[in-house]
Amino acid sequence: MKTIVLDMKDRIEKEGMKQAGEIILAGGLVAFPTETVYGLGADALNEEASAKIYQAKGRPSDNPLIVHIASMESLDRIAAVVSPKAKKLAEKFWPGPLTMIFQKTAEVPKGTTGGLDTVAVRMPENEIALELIRCGGGYIAAPSANLSGRPSPTTAAHVLEDMDGRIEMILDGGSCGIGVESTIVDLTGEIPMILRPGYINQKMLEEVIGEVAVDPTLMDANSKERPKAPGMRYKHYAPKADMTIVEGSQEAVTAKINELVQEELNNGGCPGVIASDETMSCYPQGIVQSMGSRTDEVSITAHLYAVLREFDEQNVSRIYSESFDTPDLGMAIMNRLMKAAGHQVLQV
Ligand code: AMP
Ligand code: MG
Repeated sequence: MKTIVLDMKDRIEKEGMKQAGEIILAGGLVAFPTETVYGLGADALNEEASAKIYQAKGRPSDNPLIVHIASMESLDRIAAVVSPKAKKLAEKFWPGPLTMIFQKTAEVPKGTTGGLDTVAVRMPENEIALELIRCGGGYIAAPSANLSGRPSPTTAAHVLEDMDGRIEMILDGGSCGIGVESTIVDLTGEIPMILRPGYINQKMLEEVIGEVAVDPTLMDANSKERPKAPGMRYKHYAPKADMTIVEGSQEAVTAKINELVQEELNNGGCPGVIASDETMSCYPQGIVQSMGSRTDEVSITAHLYAVLREFDEQNVSRIYSESFDTPDLGMAIMNRLMKAAGHQVLQV
């Protein structure tokens, strides 16, 4: 299959968008930008189309897809119950990087929800995404547009790396502004629960609906319970090289990483370092990449996956990362980094 890439960075091209919508309506796959990461879209109400997403990504079939909508009116057809709390969250955060879990209606095939009776729904803010949803029938199932296990794509070039020849079309809308996947909140229980941390954090949610819990398994590798979102159970976002996060005071972290870099060089390896704008100059050796500034947390989420992919390209043998326990997005950032590192943390 030849994968067509359409450039829509400067403006949404009507004819191309119509063509993309037709691919979706015919049961095909189109990758598209959102404010979080690039999505791999198919008609969510067509079971065969959803199945193609799993095939293209090599994704386990019990890992459900998020259904993307472009208007509030679309929600009732797929969500059996929309609670007052869900309505409040939608009013405040949609369109935007928030996914909510509802009991599903019979309209949503189990092939889209990984066999579950619940459905994850999000209304993205990106204009290209919204237009594709409108042209493609109103309901687009889309996970991140990477091969299963690879870092999520935040540019069309990343999507092409993983999906060339596997999907019909990629809509290029430039780099994603947020760069990590949406916050997932389960609204089917008594107390809403965050199943995946993202840009919309616990405090922002609690300001709107009161108490919100966090799935306790998220940051704890040793938890005996399984994460509630099936996708959080898989090793994910993994760079090719073995990765270790070093935690402690800034001076101790820098000293330890420099020591580990020297060791790896002595062993003939090619070490990579994940630092920040503020600390980059503390690392004289190894391939050093900054995630962004610690005073601008979104710059860190925006660069996270691109940095991991870059290390894959450069064939580094080991990656050492600083910790990014920042005030607002720290949970989202560390959740992704911990997964990339397979929860290998060194306290200094
Ligand atoms: P991705 O878009 O690749 O980040 O994958 C979607 C994420 O949403 C995965 O972690 C899924 O497990 C999660 N998800 C989708 N639907 C549900 C659902 N009904 N219940 C719980 N988690 C879900
Ligand atoms: Mg994903």
